[in-house]
Amino acid sequence: MIKGKKIYSLTKMECQRLIQAAKEVLQNTYPKPKEGYAVALLTDKGNIYVGVSYGSNTETLTMHSEATALAHAAIHGETKIVAITGPNCHICKQLIWESSLRSGIDTVIVHQEKGEIKQTPISKLMPYPWPAR
Ligand SMILES: [Zn+2]
Repeated sequence: MIKGKKIYSLTKMECQRLIQAAKEVLQNTYPKPKEGYAVALLTDKGNIYVGVSYGSNTETLTMHSEATALAHAAIHGETKIVAITGPNCHICKQLIWESSLRSGIDTVIVHQEKGEIKQTPISKLMPYPWPAR
């Protein structure tokens, strides 16, 4: 946990809602449905925003689902991210980390491990963070 940062603990039902929202939107990955990645995030206002990967033939321009979900929330004026589904690639962990530094919320990564739902704060996934805490 980051000193002075807020951290939320989601109920099992909230976690399941997020995971389900990510699964449902997987059909909208671009350009090929179900062949990319999808995530869902929860804001401090209780709203869920989803994101899907948006591919480019150059690969360099491909947008990860975490980036589109964070942008989706920002478009609606929401930048305080309580939780987001994972696992996430390292580029996206950096993006979530930077969002966390700005919002003052230690965003929780909701992921499943061996069928069990886990909640891991982004700060725990950034042992040598940049920028530092
Ligand atoms: Zn990513």
